[in-house]
Amino acid sequence: MTQINRVMIIGAGQMGAGIAQVFAQAGYHVRLYDNHTEALNKGMTHIKSRLNRLVEKGKATDEDVQNALNYLQPARSLNDAGQVDLVVEAAVENMAIKTQIFKELDQIAPEKAILATNTSSLPITEVAAATNRPGQVIGMHFMNPVPVMKLVEVIRGLATTDETFATVRQIAESLGKTPVDVSDSPGFASNRILMPMINEAVFALYEGVASPEDLDKVMKLGANHPMGPLTLADFIGLDTCLYIMEVLHEGLGDDKYRPCPLLRKYVKAGWLGKKTGKGFYDYK
Ligand code: NAD
Repeated sequence: MTQINRVMIIGAGQMGAGIAQVFAQAGYHVRLYDNHTEALNKGMTHIKSRLNRLVEKGKATDEDVQNALNYLQPARSLNDAGQVDLVVEAAVENMAIKTQIFKELDQIAPEKAILATNTSSLPITEVAAATNRPGQVIGMHFMNPVPVMKLVEVIRGLATTDETFATVRQIAESLGKTPVDVSDSPGFASNRILMPMINEAVFALYEGVASPEDLDKVMKLGANHPMGPLTLADFIGLDTCLYIMEVLHEGLGDDKYRPCPLLRKYVKAGWLGKKTGKGFYDYK
């Protein structure tokens, strides 16, 4: 198995900052990079305040926090990937941006380095094809919020080697996560199941079956979900939900995955959920 000590995370948004935090807490040397300095600073600040909250809750000591922070450094350039064993890319969900990042990483990262992507829906095989090392490209799909959620979907592209796959599974375990082996199929497993449920809840709202509050109550009290589907959609972002439904619809070619017109309408209105202050609920 490839020896992994030094890791670079690309993208310091909600996922990248969470991924950097869990790697640093597990004792990997982490470099966090974002092409927007403001986003990088924000990501670093979020990690520090989340770690400090662990101390307040009695879940970590000051020493644990200091240790984790000692393992974490901001990276000012993608060239820092020249000194790492693993890159986890968590930039925006856009194939053109991801393939450009992977092309550059392929030139910069050491020959043996593994290049992983945290994409929620884009084909790993296509990302891998942008490099000259498709055997060392893999999907490492963390769930949001990363420090809390235990699951990591490990997704092999067509050319991913057994060694890369075994190494990434073992890394996920070393972070205290549970890896599952998922094939490179639209939406992987998590979003293949979750998003149609959310989309169906939006259809139920659209058709007047029940109010948003009652639809959420049904799944919370009737199926023991910690969050109702409409609250969860607001939390994920309605634009992201629509995008993933489109990936499922196009990739699987079945009309059962057609996005609900009401979901499209909300996205067109700019009602994207919690991040814009309005979605199925009001957050202002
Ligand atoms: P986000 O918008 O919070 O963060 C993305 C970050 O990437 C931003 O800070 C942006 O400045 C940065 N970025 C954009 N282009 C870049 C580039 N070329 N180089 C370096 N940095 C760049 O997004 P997010 O929610 O953290 O999602 C990141 C990835 O994780 C996406 O691929 C998404 O599909 C995936 N994902 C998201 C979730 C979720 O619930 N939000 C869950 C699992 C996976």
